[in-house]
Amino acid sequence: MTTITIVEVEGDMEEDDDVADDHPTCASSSSLPAARDRGGEVAAVVRRLPDGWTSQQWSEWITRLPWLFSKDGSIGCTLCRDAKSLLLSPDKGGVHLSEEWMNGDVSSKTKNNLRKKIYKHRDSVAHNRAVELAETRKQAILPNQILAINGKLLEETSNAFRSAYMIAKERMAFKKLPPVMQLQEINGAKVGAVHRSDKSCAEIIGHIALEMQKKFVCNVKKAQSKISITIDESTVRGRAYMIVYVRCDVTGKGDVDNVFLGLKELVEGTDAESIYNSLREALRVAGFDD
Ligand SMILES: [Zn+2]
Repeated sequence: MTTITIVEVEGDMEEDDDVADDHPTCASSSSLPAARDRGGEVAAVVRRLPDGWTSQQWSEWITRLPWLFSKDGSIGCTLCRDAKSLLLSPDKGGVHLSEEWMNGDVSSKTKNNLRKKIYKHRDSVAHNRAVELAETRKQAILPNQILAINGKLLEETSNAFRSAYMIAKERMAFKKLPPVMQLQEINGAKVGAVHRSDKSCAEIIGHIALEMQKKFVCNVKKAQSKISITIDESTVRGRAYMIVYVRCDVTGKGDVDNVFLGLKELVEGTDAESIYNSLREALRVAGFDD
């Protein structure tokens, strides 16, 4: 029974000689499994097929010409419908898309005439412009999605970095980052799921400090500013540390200031020679290498 139906459909879809002679791309896209796959989807969307068409026949049609859609007994073209706004804009002159096909108002008294209309539309210049446009859009989807994902990650990271910077600037505990991020999320900011722990906070602040230090040293060297160094010593849990400050013209325009350069553990000892060696090492690491 099923076989007989398919034979009928294939006969029904043969093109009339006066409409079009050969359409290799169309023929190669035909496949029955695809027709079955789309059948359910189409049946759910379509309210009424053109008069005299069975759902099996319709499945066959859209397998070969997937841009067809049906609407209350008429048919239309999804590609032309989607291309409407672009191809109809004044600066894209020269292509006239059929209103009937865009709106899904194509109908005919006989099956034969409707078939002719379909093939005529398929070969029309305007429809083929719509096909090209759909292909171009498809190719642009992936890069656009990657850009969107990158943009979202960048926004989340920027929000986390600004928050961690505020934590450091206000001398708050690293553990304050999670509630700060939670608050921002409630207020509608995109904060993501990654940079919101106290450990992240410490890492972000360390990273920002390193970048700020690089920028500062670079500016001082560029301005050829004279520098003086102040050091202090502090002991934390039995370990000796050296605190290094640099006093210099920060901007090269006479804005003299004391700038914290860094902390250095005095691993070699706290005698004069060890302190001197540690200081040289601290300056070298910061970029004052000459
Ligand atoms: Zn079309």
